[in-house]
Amino acid sequence: METEQKTGIVYLVGAGPGDPRLITVRGVECLCRADVVVYDYLANEQLLAFAPDEAERIYAGKIGGRHNQDQAEINRLLVQKAREGRCVVRLKGGDPFVFGRGAEECQALREAGLPFEVVPGVTAALGSAAYAGIPLTHRDFTASVAFVTGHEGKEKEESAIDWERLSLGSGTVVFYMGITTLRRNMERLMEHGRNPQTPVALVRWGTTPGQQVLTGCLADIAERAEQAAFKPPAVTIVGEVVALRERLRWFDNRPLFGRRILVTRAADQAGEFSAMLAERGATAIECPTIRLVEPEDWSFLDATIRGVGGYDWLVLTSGNAVRNFFRRLAEFGLDTRALASCRVCAVGPKTAEAILEFGIRPDLVPSDYKAEGVVAELGKQEIAGKRVLFPRADLAREIIPRELTRLGAHVDSPVAYRNLLPERLPPEALFALEKRSVDCITFTSSSTVRNLAGMLGGDMLVDMLKGVTVASIGPVTSRTCHEVGLKVDIEPPHSTLADLVAAIERHFNH
Ligand code: SAH
Repeated sequence: METEQKTGIVYLVGAGPGDPRLITVRGVECLCRADVVVYDYLANEQLLAFAPDEAERIYAGKIGGRHNQDQAEINRLLVQKAREGRCVVRLKGGDPFVFGRGAEECQALREAGLPFEVVPGVTAALGSAAYAGIPLTHRDFTASVAFVTGHEGKEKEESAIDWERLSLGSGTVVFYMGITTLRRNMERLMEHGRNPQTPVALVRWGTTPGQQVLTGCLADIAERAEQAAFKPPAVTIVGEVVALRERLRWFDNRPLFGRRILVTRAADQAGEFSAMLAERGATAIECPTIRLVEPEDWSFLDATIRGVGGYDWLVLTSGNAVRNFFRRLAEFGLDTRALASCRVCAVGPKTAEAILEFGIRPDLVPSDYKAEGVVAELGKQEIAGKRVLFPRADLAREIIPRELTRLGAHVDSPVAYRNLLPERLPPEALFALEKRSVDCITFTSSSTVRNLAGMLGGDMLVDMLKGVTVASIGPVTSRTCHEVGLKVDIEPPHSTLADLVAAIERHFNH
């Protein structure tokens, strides 16, 4: 039998400057089909998640762009992997052809007769300038921009840079790799005629939540950088356009910029909340404290579904309850018409939205988005003698069944899902807590508090959270915080994620 020899190929993919979302669509396509990914220090590691789980991931180090030795080894590695017939992604920071030695890699592949493709990326100068609010060109200030290496190879006796040309006129100059040599480079520009008052900005870790910008002018920026112990990787932007940052800044002045916020929701629910925080500039560190799983025993829920036509009210108090209830309903071959004679109550607008996704408009949403609110509103609805179905979490509070029963209703409250502890906390989150590099921790339900305390031990939790702002979604969650010994710094007036985010924003900007 003939075996088909797959031909290998190497994609040189620009990863973009830092923010992982700045990679190109083509770049993601290549990563998705990679057998091997060879990635650099400056390529955001989060992008590796696009590669198939079984893909080989090889870190090609090169901090600070070391010797030719390393480059030759990388070239050999690319050739070898492609010869084995593999689809190789060479993931490089920024753009592969801008100070990236991508050309040398292509040359090696060409010599070996192997195919390659170059996928451009947003280079550090463009990304950092955009996220610092500095337009590299502007018709009122400059008509040109130059990208210059600030760190010429040591073997070069004479500068390959035309300092004369670079210094004359008003063109914007962006130095890469120019922090350790900053003083010398600024001096050269001045020696060759640039005005010492020309504005300069250093942008470190541009486009990331850790972005730092230091501004000054040609004459004083080196001094300022030394005083601030400013470190690479950073680009140096020289030109009148730098002054526009004052007015055009948009990224690093967001209300929660630079804040590190721990999100304790279940993994499959954290995304929306994290995105809301990220939009305001925060770094959300996900630390799921809940694992949602199916009920241990379906029989009660199933029995209620079989008799679902007999209920007067369906009460739902979380998106999980909604999704699990309707999924089970569907497994019985039923759809929303089975609920035709049943009125529906949602605890709050989010749950109402989840219900609406199944084509049902809730009849009742209390203004107080918690169990007490549900009881108060249903209490006004002549609930006595009525049959209520309340599919719930295993650890739900008893208040709804208890109080509605007291009001004369017949309540069935089967378990629709369980909240379990995750097997372990993500190392990144634990590390952040231990390093005390968390500004704020958020609790969006009592279970998140109880579970985290359970996993870490209550005393340990209290100790780890010393000096950390505690944000709780509402009074019930806050009470649980107090029970485990935590003080609550933030509690929004309404128990919704949007209100919680707004309250966090107010807290950090008062
Ligand atoms: N091929 C890359 C450049 C590699 S050279 C590109 O196109 O961006 C490495 C230099 O890039 C660093 O010394 C620094 O000057 C710059 N750089 C890379 N990422 C950066 C970032 N996020 N913020 C600021 N500068 C960055």
